[in-house]
Amino acid sequence: MKKSYTAIIAFLFALTSAQTKSQQLSNPFDFPMQLSGGFCDLRANHYHAGIDFRTRSTVGHAIHAVQKGYISRITVGPWGYGAAVYVTHPDDSIITVHGHLERFTDRMAEYVKNKQYEKESFNIDLTFEPGTEPVKRGDIIGYSGNSGSSGGPHLHFEVRDMKTNELIDPLTFYKSRIPDTRKPHVNGLKIYPIEGKGIVNGSNKKQDIIFKLDKNENPIISGTIEAWGEIGLAVRAVDRMDGTGFSYGIKKISQTVDSLETFLSYTDRFSLDESKYINSYTDYEEWSERRLFYIKTFVDPGNKTRFVASRNSGKININEERIYNVVISLSDINGNTRKIPIKIKGRKQDITPPDTVGTKLLRWYEQNSFIAKGIEMAIPDKTLYNSVYMHYNNIAANEVYSPVHILHNTPVPLHNQAQLSIFIDSIFEPVNTEQLGIVRFSGQNRRRSWIGGTYRDGWIDAEISELGAYAVACDTTPPIIKPVEQNMWRSKKRISIRITDNLSGISTFRGDINGKYALFEYDGKNSLITYDFDDERLHPGYHRLKLTVTDGCGNKSVFEHAFTW
Ligand SMILES: [Zn+2]
Repeated sequence: MKKSYTAIIAFLFALTSAQTKSQQLSNPFDFPMQLSGGFCDLRANHYHAGIDFRTRSTVGHAIHAVQKGYISRITVGPWGYGAAVYVTHPDDSIITVHGHLERFTDRMAEYVKNKQYEKESFNIDLTFEPGTEPVKRGDIIGYSGNSGSSGGPHLHFEVRDMKTNELIDPLTFYKSRIPDTRKPHVNGLKIYPIEGKGIVNGSNKKQDIIFKLDKNENPIISGTIEAWGEIGLAVRAVDRMDGTGFSYGIKKISQTVDSLETFLSYTDRFSLDESKYINSYTDYEEWSERRLFYIKTFVDPGNKTRFVASRNSGKININEERIYNVVISLSDINGNTRKIPIKIKGRKQDITPPDTVGTKLLRWYEQNSFIAKGIEMAIPDKTLYNSVYMHYNNIAANEVYSPVHILHNTPVPLHNQAQLSIFIDSIFEPVNTEQLGIVRFSGQNRRRSWIGGTYRDGWIDAEISELGAYAVACDTTPPIIKPVEQNMWRSKKRISIRITDNLSGISTFRGDINGKYALFEYDGKNSLITYDFDDERLHPGYHRLKLTVTDGCGNKSVFEHAFTW
């Protein structure tokens, strides 16, 4: 059943007021709070799940528990949050997550290291029962860093609902203490004729709305926009805060047409499995091809983002020859608001029907399949955000073991994975089928990225998360192992080695010293693994290091080195 617009608005307001009643959380740091990222900021294939605290561009700052509770989980990995501490706060019914740490407290660090040796794994995920690791508000729980997929020193901080694991905007608990008097800034506007239902300035293609900013940064639109039928709008904008040059996502976006609100987005909470809706919340083609985020104020039928409410899906129906006054308002959590007035002139004109010649209609509300020579695709239910008349084509290319199959002429995001099978041209069929996998060609320079998959009777089966250009490729090159500053290993008491792979990526690595597991820490973004001389486990003397690295296709490299210490 479809919830009414008013019911959704009432629901959104209930959520907001419930949160403002919550207790404040304390500053995790000993210095004033500043942010380098906000909740629900737009990122590649996900909404930012928390806020990013600035850490004076350095690592190693003590992180304090923001409320009493207990450490409930510790994770370590080469990507994502790197080293992370989760603290559960039962009194507040929330969990706080602290990511990209440099290190844990000494006692916890030793415990984690022992567990890593026990499991013979750098990656670790440890949980703690209530009562085993209690913390008071202000207790040190770790030290800030830049580990995992982090682009510079900062603390990634999340607040999760303890019962549902849903993500809540942490700024709700801090907003009065972080100065913000600046309004959002508009970078771009687009107008979309809805396929087969609308037309804009005589065209059925999306168009930029040209504007200038006045001295107060308010957008002033030049020229007339003439339209007929159903149209939609999109805005590219960022928020700003006092005293930083960083930009943040827009907390609240509303659209009114002749004073009637037709779209409202208020980013207060979401669950992790909803994060991919960003690819429908924004114009996916603009992101995929140009790395620009245009937020659409009209909603695709398959987009179930909970923080969006709309009337007629936010689409504007221009069916009278008059001026339609549209206003898009962008606000931050403190209510600083930027208004964008857009006048659209209704002028009756013919609407172009969709281009359906030679296409396959994929419907958003059901399962879809597509079969052509050498390719099969199955798209499950609840996977497309919108129906699409798919154009299919295939071309020959070098360094591939099949034609390049082109599934549609613009990128189409998928919410769940689709099954893709591509047949291998028998003339090229190599002996080792493990080295075969599907690759995707993307971007303007048609860069190859490895998808992988498994071999089955001349076919490769894989899962894909968007429609695009795909072919079968082969990875026969083992990973490269390259010692870094080898002459410094002894003096620094640290072994540093770079591990890279040309196509399918690093899959596993294992270091042994004198035939026993040695803990190498893996920093994914720098392709670097390091071993710190461990007084407890490495005694002075003659040692033999053996490092084995494999890629996603099972190609293996081994590095051996003897050293005295
Ligand atoms: Zn973050």
